[in-house]
Amino acid sequence: MVELRRNPTREVRIGRIAIGGGHPIAPQSMTATQTADVPATLEQVTALHAAGAGVVRIAVDSKKDAAALPAIRAGTEANLAIDLQENYRLATDVAPHVDKLRYNPGHLYHHEREKPWQDKVKFIAEVAAANDCALRVGVNCGSVDPAKKEQFAADDSLGPMLASALEHCELLDAIGFTRYCVSLKDSDPRKVIEVNRRFAAERPDVPLHLGVTEAGMPPDGIIKTRIAFEQLISRGIGDTVRVSLTVSNADKPQEIAAANAILADIAAGRVRSVVDYGLSTLNIISCPSCSRVENEAFIDLAKQVKEMTAYASEHAITIAVMGCRVNGPGETDDADLGLWCGPTHVNLKKGSAELGAFPYDAILPRLREELDKLIAARTVTT
Ligand code: SF4
Repeated sequence: MVELRRNPTREVRIGRIAIGGGHPIAPQSMTATQTADVPATLEQVTALHAAGAGVVRIAVDSKKDAAALPAIRAGTEANLAIDLQENYRLATDVAPHVDKLRYNPGHLYHHEREKPWQDKVKFIAEVAAANDCALRVGVNCGSVDPAKKEQFAADDSLGPMLASALEHCELLDAIGFTRYCVSLKDSDPRKVIEVNRRFAAERPDVPLHLGVTEAGMPPDGIIKTRIAFEQLISRGIGDTVRVSLTVSNADKPQEIAAANAILADIAAGRVRSVVDYGLSTLNIISCPSCSRVENEAFIDLAKQVKEMTAYASEHAITIAVMGCRVNGPGETDDADLGLWCGPTHVNLKKGSAELGAFPYDAILPRLREELDKLIAARTVTT
């Protein structure tokens, strides 16, 4: 952890560490193993903790995943966080074994649709308080609260994110739960910078977890994240960070090393000014993978997509490669071409049009076909 000038945010304790309140910026990461595979998950938690992760996050989607937590807890001293996805009620199963719960406001609509989101947040906060857990309100560009989206113009992606985060802070404060931080993530570092600056201006007291989601493979993923962190952390914004990288399970500690390197450079004033990370050229985004990946061929596929598309490097086209069917469809919305992986097939999307699912050994030629068409269409119109 590195000492940097900080905004005066509230202190939020997460297990043995605290963020905000002048504490050092804590790098964190997330496991990508199948959570129910206790030996594999514990090995990864241990590796991340040893690399210096202040918090290690684990995805929990099912009772089976939740049942693995006591054994994981018993095997590590790492501060543990979990992601509550659609099934917010899993909070009661997981909170006794972890230090922090993350919920996504955009995911509180999928279950018990008739129940107001406020009741769900109160439930989560009560469970967190009863189990000595902190909370993160994790807003993500690909899964924004649909009710908030309706209130803003279709091309305003940051307004709904910001409004959703502020609304949840207001509710948590109103019910007396202040042990929380917020994250506002996008795959475009410029949007990450803007939305976090706007949030920090409105709520300078709330600690922020910074990250560029689906940043992709190193080195591009590190460069994109560095751009956002330099602009924010240099202004005192950010209390904990994650560098999301598409790397194999064995290489996950690279996320912590990258975070520490960026923080050290910012602290020493070694900041880059302008870096071309693909806004006027080919931009490949890919998620960092997690336990929701159903076929580990995803990591190789992400690499192969990058290699195969190198011939199009001068074209301003964004291709998104996502590891799962849960978040893949939404997270690829802003890409020109989107892929998301299932157990045996890879889904392909062009803009918002779904083109079908293709076996792993057939997806690259199909992607190339669509990429060629896109390049040809843009060449004709320019
Ligand atoms: S897109 Fe799916 S596999 Fe990738 S990090 Fe997000 S939830 Fe995990």
